[in-house]
Amino acid sequence: MRVNNIIECHHCGLFLKNKENYMKKKFLCPRCSSRLNYSKRHNLEAFYYAISSLLLFIILNIFPLISLDVNGLNLKATLYNTVFILLEQHFFLVSLVVFFTIFLAPILNSFIIILSVIQANTKIDFFTKTLLYDSFHFFKTWSFIEVFVISIIVTYIKLVGMLSSTKFDIGFYIMIAFLFCFYMSIIRFEDKNIFEA
Ligand SMILES: [Zn+2]
Repeated sequence: MRVNNIIECHHCGLFLKNKENYMKKKFLCPRCSSRLNYSKRHNLEAFYYAISSLLLFIILNIFPLISLDVNGLNLKATLYNTVFILLEQHFFLVSLVVFFTIFLAPILNSFIIILSVIQANTKIDFFTKTLLYDSFHFFKTWSFIEVFVISIIVTYIKLVGMLSSTKFDIGFYIMIAFLFCFYMSIIRFEDKNIFEA
């Protein structure tokens, strides 16, 4: 009996022979009655969440995160602005780290999820499974977008005390939606299942 022909129930840990049979039909676990083709469905969800987060990321860069009025002057701060400002102030290394953790890592993380799900469901091979697996964990570790969201909130709290015109702009709310999709794609993506198949 081959090991890769065995399926494990995610809920009660029961091992079942003839994996293929269980994956095709809507088969329920004989012991606990939970669905066995769980992982395929979840990975497809991860795929949609990853696409949504990529789209939201593009839109979020168009709109400002925070806006405020200073002496009749309307100031707006967008996501890419922050990296630009750091560069202008000659914080080269800091801007590089910010660019990597806020732009590159989240985008590449979503791309890897999309590529992995396509690769698992078709015969197309973009990259080796090992490379996809390693890069998924690498970019997941290096995505610090939530730290950025917290820093935006802190900036808002500091500014609103001085200037009451300070307000969160559309970009900020899109960023929250992005963060939700981004994390859902990571949670739903079952790397162990997708790479062993
Ligand atoms: Zn079970």
